[in-house]
Amino acid sequence: MRLRPLEELKAEEVSLEELLNSMRSMLRSNSVASSLAVEGDRVIDGAVDYWALRWLRCRLAPVSEGLREGGPIPLEALGFYDNAMSNEYRAYRDVMELLSNDRPTPMVMLRGDWGPGVRVWAKLEWYNPLSLSIKDRTALGVLMEALSRNPDARKIFEVSSSNTGIALAALSAALGLRARIYVPTTAEGFGPSMLRILGAEVVVRGSSTVEALPSAIAEAKAEGAIMPNQFENIANPLTHVGTTAKEIDLQANFLGLKLRGIFVTLGTRGHSAGIAFYFKNRRPDVKVFGVQPAEGSIIPGIRRQDPSKWWPMAERPDEIIDVTDSEAMDSAIAVARTNGLLFGMSGGAAVAALLKKGKLEEGDYVVVVPDHGIKYLDRYLSRLGD
Ligand code: PLP
Repeated sequence: MRLRPLEELKAEEVSLEELLNSMRSMLRSNSVASSLAVEGDRVIDGAVDYWALRWLRCRLAPVSEGLREGGPIPLEALGFYDNAMSNEYRAYRDVMELLSNDRPTPMVMLRGDWGPGVRVWAKLEWYNPLSLSIKDRTALGVLMEALSRNPDARKIFEVSSSNTGIALAALSAALGLRARIYVPTTAEGFGPSMLRILGAEVVVRGSSTVEALPSAIAEAKAEGAIMPNQFENIANPLTHVGTTAKEIDLQANFLGLKLRGIFVTLGTRGHSAGIAFYFKNRRPDVKVFGVQPAEGSIIPGIRRQDPSKWWPMAERPDEIIDVTDSEAMDSAIAVARTNGLLFGMSGGAAVAALLKKGKLEEGDYVVVVPDHGIKYLDRYLSRLGD
């Protein structure tokens, strides 16, 4: 048996159910049961494990010629954590390398009155360089997956009111693709301005992203464009399993945290589903709290969820907490005034949910902060009454 870079190998497609089951088993056992059987660069037996290793973002695969050989092989031996760590000098030869390798995003302990023995850590996703948000990860994941199926595509269409659209428009610029982003009539400010500056075609359509979706999908088909459709694309949550979730795990281990819970906000449910999938299998003692806007509140990037809908995996947040836009802004402003960091409104909502939850068991909690508050200055100023 020997180790080979996964990117050198090819395998046939497998069913989603088989893929998820193999990922679950690897996350639970922290290993792969046996090597992949290969002939040259083709996997002839073990395609399911090959795809599971890819989505877990391992660097290497254990291979043997012709027949699978016994293991188990620990994930660490396959470079499981390599993609969660940057090179020492953070020096990169191009933007694509920056995007994949400049990891992890920082995690920082927040000063605050959280309750006895409770420590709160913020994972700062505005450190992603394109959209200054967690959505760089989603955009990279869905676009690379789509391009691997359709390498000749030159156009990419997506429906997004801000961060995903910006990340896709920026990635398209970096890769020489043309982006068309459908934005709802309500979109204003940072999002549409960034899209125009990045050279994307902006189509204003519908009063919400959901409304524009069917016609955008039809137009993408007619014009031969890639349409990732982040709302239904399994590459969205799967991307966060091998990146965002893995980084939290690695950082929590490094800091020696007694990790009790993670607060995540719900938009497409991409990062929440990825984090729930990872932790429910690898660290089932860690609770995942989903955060959504309370009835009648508008918090950019997140939306009220239909409880009957989820991704095709059983792992999901243990609890959903409603937060009003005022609570989200008040929490963001309070954190800014005690820590000097201005969270975006969804990050503020995650903190507000933690405070609302009350009576937290002593230990460590992570709030995922999707973007920076500079995008929402007008909202914060009007909340302050200025
Ligand atoms: N917060 C912000 C600022 C966002 O832009 C988004 C998604 O666009 C989210 C939270 C929710 O993330 P997800 O779509 O992964 O549920």
